[in-house]
Amino acid sequence: MGGCHSYPSATKVDTKTPQPSDIHSEKLGINNNNQEECPYLQRQNACQRITDANMFALISLPPGMDKAEWLASNTVAFFNHINLFSSALSEFCTPSTCPTACGPGNMVYFWTDDHGRKLKCSAPLYFDYAMSYIQELLTDEDVFPTKAGATFPTGFIFLVQKVFLLLLRTLAHIYWSHYSEVLALDMHPHLNTLFSHLTLFCQQHSLLEPEDMKPLQDLINALERHG
Ligand SMILES: [Zn+2]
Repeated sequence: MGGCHSYPSATKVDTKTPQPSDIHSEKLGINNNNQEECPYLQRQNACQRITDANMFALISLPPGMDKAEWLASNTVAFFNHINLFSSALSEFCTPSTCPTACGPGNMVYFWTDDHGRKLKCSAPLYFDYAMSYIQELLTDEDVFPTKAGATFPTGFIFLVQKVFLLLLRTLAHIYWSHYSEVLALDMHPHLNTLFSHLTLFCQQHSLLEPEDMKPLQDLINALERHG
């Protein structure tokens, strides 16, 4: 298990009465492991990309193209890339390594079921629900029509926003909990490229709420600064 979140949780589960020497080392530990030192924020990692392509050219609506069509084709492409990327790391994300679906700032993501109940579940279960939910939507002709002349349903944007939030959380969990595996596999240039592309696309087309981006702002800033 990697990621910065292991430090606060390790501190929380330690229930033995602290001795003076322990208090000292615990404080040192916290000071040594603040957000600034997250490996994914460090310059040598945050500057890595797989392409020099101009992201702004990639995210903008091409002239003359229908906006819903543009959002739909990008939703499908992002889903395919992120699903593939997270599958490559699935052996590291198990109910025992990741008993909760969490992200930067130790945010915990809850799955809302069909009855509106919030379920706290393991990360692999949460992301399994998420990917199945998205796949079902994308293959539903009434939501993502593929036939010429078909129209997009009312509420299409709302569904696209929901998909992008789930995709954002998938990458956020990887940064937070599996970054050491990502580094070991040399996949961080891919991850940075995917994440930057996704967040820029969402900003350009107003697909995410500021409160969803806020816990990731350090990462967004680091990628912008060093990208
Ligand atoms: Zn995990």
